[in-house]
Amino acid sequence: MASHVWHPCTQMKDHETYPPLPIARAKGSYLYDPEGRAYIDGTSSWWCKSLGHAHPALVEALKDQADHFEHVMLANTTNSVIESLSDKLSQLCPSLNKVSYASDGSCAVEIALKMAVHGQALAGRPHKTAFMGIAGSYHGETALTMSVSDLGLYKKPYASLMHSYPILQGIPYVKNTDDPLWHDALSHWPGIEAQLEEHGPHVAALILEPILQGAAGMLIYSADALKRIHDWCKKNNVWLIADEIMTGFGRTGKALACEHAGIEPDFLCLSKGLTSGYLPISAMITRDDIYDLFYDDYETGKAFLHSHTHTGNALAARVALATLEVIEESKLYETVQKNAPKAAKLMQDIADESEYLHNVRSIGGMVAADIIPRENQTRAGFTFAKEARKNGALLRPLGNTLYWLPPLNSPMSLWEELQNITKKSLCV
Ligand SMILES: *Cc1c(COP(=O)(O)O)cnc(C)c1O
Repeated sequence: MASHVWHPCTQMKDHETYPPLPIARAKGSYLYDPEGRAYIDGTSSWWCKSLGHAHPALVEALKDQADHFEHVMLANTTNSVIESLSDKLSQLCPSLNKVSYASDGSCAVEIALKMAVHGQALAGRPHKTAFMGIAGSYHGETALTMSVSDLGLYKKPYASLMHSYPILQGIPYVKNTDDPLWHDALSHWPGIEAQLEEHGPHVAALILEPILQGAAGMLIYSADALKRIHDWCKKNNVWLIADEIMTGFGRTGKALACEHAGIEPDFLCLSKGLTSGYLPISAMITRDDIYDLFYDDYETGKAFLHSHTHTGNALAARVALATLEVIEESKLYETVQKNAPKAAKLMQDIADESEYLHNVRSIGGMVAADIIPRENQTRAGFTFAKEARKNGALLRPLGNTLYWLPPLNSPMSLWEELQNITKKSLCV
């Protein structure tokens, strides 16, 4: 039967040799096809299933909320679920207290971008209408979020829709937190500072994925560089937007990746891990004094008139609350930190034993390496993904970068299983 589904981020012709995996059921870190064969969800279903599939506490919360009410518009109403969730989220960073909601990551970033330009104008800086991104950045799929991203292939066909914003070059990348550059990026700073000085006066906000850039190919950069950029922004009326849509809630071993640099941004975007990928919701959190810029009599026209139909969806908000509870009770971040060196070593061992992998890099619950293609081999990452699926893992390399990003509560035995499958799939 011909399928009517047009799959996301896929050259559909690839389905001729690699048809989509039919999913009948999922539990914990595993997906099951209709024949009952198990596959590791090795990317946490695009980086969101931090507590895995079918977690009983999350399923219970969802059912209970459905028995009360599913969704009521958040304009002119409130409820204890969204109040409690906002209270919890405002504890992530002491200086960030006001939470806006949307349904996906891209829209949380859009909120931050719009609010930054609007807020700068209200603060008496109407000339600050530009944004700045950093090399390798990814912030979503809408026209504005693509404009602040730096991934050529994804945005090239839409160049006519894009704004052209400056992109900061020369960020010092590291393989892990043992790299001396992690703690001291002074050698790279003058080049970065010169670009900030050049563009800063027109920039409302600089946006970045703190520490770990996912879509760029799982690249990790210096915590000291992040701190220096943050400090420069603070001094120069450039607001900092931290896009923690992928890193938030433990992926780097801390609640927020910003904590590695000891910084607090002016705007914080969260989504993927917030409900452990059960329901789509995103949050954008900012400071009281930015909120106050918009606070005035109606006639002044200062209100932030941005809305999404599903803002604050109660089912999603309730699952988010349950997710945060499970994270806290299970001391999830401690487990991630404890497992991190062992997980990294599993990938390093493959690189040491074979000639097919190099450039192993890791932080928290993410381990990546680049596949060294065989002679004349094209699309080594795609070939690898097909083999891995035959061997029982759903993985999705970024180009030739293969990465393991299983649910954060996966036991070490699951990482070991990923290692076995990876070895087998590389050495065919
Ligand atoms: C996934 C992601 C987004 C976009 O989120 P969507 O929910 O896919 O719109 C933005 N920024 C980062 C860092 C992401 O990983």
